[in-house]
Amino acid sequence: MIVPFVDLKTQYQNIKPEIDLAIQEVLDSAAFIMGPKVKEFEEGFARLHEAAYCIGTSSGTDSLHLALWAAGIQPGDKVIVPVNTFIATAEAVSLCGAEPVFIDCDDYYNLDVSKLRQKLSAMSAKERTRLRGIIPVHLYGQPADMDEIMALAKEYNLLLVEDCAQAHCARFNGQPVGTLGLVGCFSFYPGKNLGAYGEAGAVITNDRRLYEAMRLIHDHGAPVRYQHDVVGHNYRMEGIQGAVLAVKLNYISAWTRMRQENANLYSQWLQDVTEVTVPRIKSGRTHSFHLYVIRVKERDALMKYLADHGISTGLHYPVPLHLQKAYAHLGYQRGDFPVAEKMAKEILSLPMYPELTEEQIRFVVDQIKNFFASRR
Ligand SMILES: *Cc1c(COP(=O)(O)O)cnc(C)c1O
Repeated sequence: MIVPFVDLKTQYQNIKPEIDLAIQEVLDSAAFIMGPKVKEFEEGFARLHEAAYCIGTSSGTDSLHLALWAAGIQPGDKVIVPVNTFIATAEAVSLCGAEPVFIDCDDYYNLDVSKLRQKLSAMSAKERTRLRGIIPVHLYGQPADMDEIMALAKEYNLLLVEDCAQAHCARFNGQPVGTLGLVGCFSFYPGKNLGAYGEAGAVITNDRRLYEAMRLIHDHGAPVRYQHDVVGHNYRMEGIQGAVLAVKLNYISAWTRMRQENANLYSQWLQDVTEVTVPRIKSGRTHSFHLYVIRVKERDALMKYLADHGISTGLHYPVPLHLQKAYAHLGYQRGDFPVAEKMAKEILSLPMYPELTEEQIRFVVDQIKNFFASRR
């Protein structure tokens, strides 16, 4: 049996007539940039996440940069970022001329609030004046510890920007992610839970002033064509992406439930494999399971064994950001973030998508069991 890591082809086949029609409408109307399909999507996505405003953008990375830029992050500022995330979270800070300040993760792979608190209280008053924001990442689809993070952001007067790139439809105490902080940033990279057919992203907010600032910047600072009130950028969403995403919005809630069911099956069937640590969900969270990540000591050997048996897996992420060459100039050392460094060696992302069948999950679990049996 072959089990791919993601299966975008099956999903397309399941909704092909609707997608093809929506794309055809964009071609017929020639509304290639923004236009009615993007507007329809923005309204639907805002409703889905119970936000007042949504702007479709050109990617998740651009969404993060747009949010920080519009919120006023400037050169010399510092912004807190978890050290175990995709580099885009930190890049958005760097693109503003600001500097990411890394924090280690906890057992749930999210920003460790006790280490955040330690870092904040260890900062000098001078350092603290440059600290302007914090970007919790709802990694793998599990909301970060937003109650504590919101309280600390308030106490230290930090802009709270949520990286929701992996957490569409995830909830914290019943509230959709992206609306807990000032602004939520989403990616619709094809492999994300809600995937476009190219690059796309979105920002959501309940703050009217920030919304208006982001609207301007994302389209060359122009409230109307050729009137440029501020220097902006081109972070607009394409019409075809809006059309695809508007169709998929009708399915995302069902797809999220299917991911959760698949995760339950994995966890249930892996329960008696003592070598495997399955993901745990903190109370009050709805996990959207963008990724189903297990932890094992013999990770590389298991990964190879699964690949040899037709199962593709992934690493999210193999190298924490402080050990990346791109951030060598920040001067962090190996050993600075022991939890993230240890996790990076043990994590393994198993195949996860709504269309994954019970037989496929059973096969993956059986192969994992075979691997450990062969080692005993
Ligand atoms: C995918 C991702 C991004 C970037 O989104 P793109 O659309 O690929 O630019 C940012 N942060 C996290 C956590 C992501 O997983």
